[in-house]
Formats: sequence, C-alpha cells, structure tokens
Amino acid sequence: MKRPKRILFLLLTATALPAAACAWGGLFHRAVAEAAQRNLSPKAIAEIERYTQGTPLAAYATFMDEVVADPRYKEPFAGWHASIADSTCKSPVEVRQRYRNSRDGVTAAEWITEELKNYRSLDDSVVLTYIKCLVHIIPDFHCPAHVRYTDAHNEGKFDVTFFGRKILLHSIWDHHLLTRLRPGWDDMRWADYLCETPRKEIRAAKRGSYREWFEDTARDVRISIDWVRPGDALGDEFMEKAASLADKELRKAAARLTKTLERIFGK
Ligand SMILES: [Zn+2]
Repeated sequence: MKRPKRILFLLLTATALPAAACAWGGLFHRAVAEAAQRNLSPKAIAEIERYTQGTPLAAYATFMDEVVADPRYKEPFAGWHASIADSTCKSPVEVRQRYRNSRDGVTAAEWITEELKNYRSLDDSVVLTYIKCLVHIIPDFHCPAHVRYTDAHNEGKFDVTFFGRKILLHSIWDHHLLTRLRPGWDDMRWADYLCETPRKEIRAAKRGSYREWFEDTARDVRISIDWVRPGDALGDEFMEKAASLADKELRKAAARLTKTLERIFGK
C-alpha cells in the first residue's frame, strides 16, 4: 500500500472540514479516545505527547471522518472505516484482498502499526497523522454497522421507525441506540463509564491481533443482521438487545485502543 508524502501533507493541513456520518458518532469516538488515553502507561503518554504536544486524543477522534468528506482527502483513507469477514467470521488477508482490495480497517491498522515500528525515525507530523488514524480506525472496526461479511452485510442503509421516528438504521447503530440508553451523557461521562469496565473484561478484550479483535466483533455482530428488515417499527425489544451489543463493542474498542497505543509507544 503506497501512501505518497503529498497525501500525508494534504492530510496534515486539512482543518475545519465538514464531518461525515461514519461509524460511531463523534460523541462515542471522543469517549473511546478519552477512555483509552486515561488508561495509558506514563511511558506511552510521554511518547505520544512528543507528537500531540498535549492535545487530548479525543480531539483527533473524528479526524478521519472530517477529511473523508473532502474529495482531496477521500482516496487515501478509502475503505478504512469498515472491515470484512467471511461467512464464518474470519478475516484472512485473502478475503480482505478479494472483497475490498485490501481497503479495510484491519489492513490499515496493520499497515500503520508496521510503519510506526520505527516511529522515532519518521517525521513528527507523519507520526501524528498515524496516531490520528489509529485513534479512529480501532473503534470503527467495533461498530456493528461497519462490520461487513462476504455473504451479507449489516450496513443498515435503509429507513426504519425507531420509537416512532423514521430514521436510517445505520445511524441508529452509530448514535441513537446508546444516546437513548443513557440520555444526556457527554463524552466525558461516557469515558468515565468505559473506564469502569471490569479489569477481567479489559484483559480478555486486549488479547489478540487486530484481525482477531475484528473477528471477535464479527462473531458478536453477525446475529444482528437478522434483527431488522427495511421499514420495521423498532422499539423496546430491539433496543434491549441492540444497545447491549453496541455497548459491549464500545467497551472492547476502548480497551483495544489502549492496547494498540501501548504496543507501539509503551515499550
Ligand atoms: Zn469512521
């Protein structure tokens, strides 16, 4: 995968671009980034701050959504917001190549992590861009509406009625489920909640590779494909099982983003 330096330059100079609706809404992306940052080791925090100059990771959480809305920046990140599994929830390299031309979140995270192995030899601005990407990509491949399968999909690009309101199913997964579950919570309150995840659950979530993390989520999410059909009227029954699933994946995303940054910057 080639990433010309010019593209990185363009990405670094992109500011104040309109946000696109991509995976977890901004609230949850910021909450996951904040929770992940709170659980970093002092070593990882010090290393990361060399590049962020103390800017909270939450400030970068929607960077990839902001740049994807601009045609100049669309191509380099194309496909990185979703990942692909086969019908048995496996995501080997061959499946990613065949079905997405290797434009998927898992491949992107693997590639960026490889690039960051010698991060001290890279330009500071390049390292910062990679940090911004990882802060977004890892949570994205835990979003139920962003898990793709070779034989089905869960994208939800159709309208349903959610507690009487006509709405795109995709945006329910991205935002409305969890904001309805805990009305009024802001990103900091959500981060507090994510940091309350039991240590045993966090340890279990952190084990494995990017591929294994995504496959774990793909197994969790698969059942939800059959929960909804276009035009359905969704209420309490859907809310109970779907919010529980989204909540579980969000907790895993926070733990795994911490682990991702520790593996690179905490050594
Ligand atoms: Zn995204």
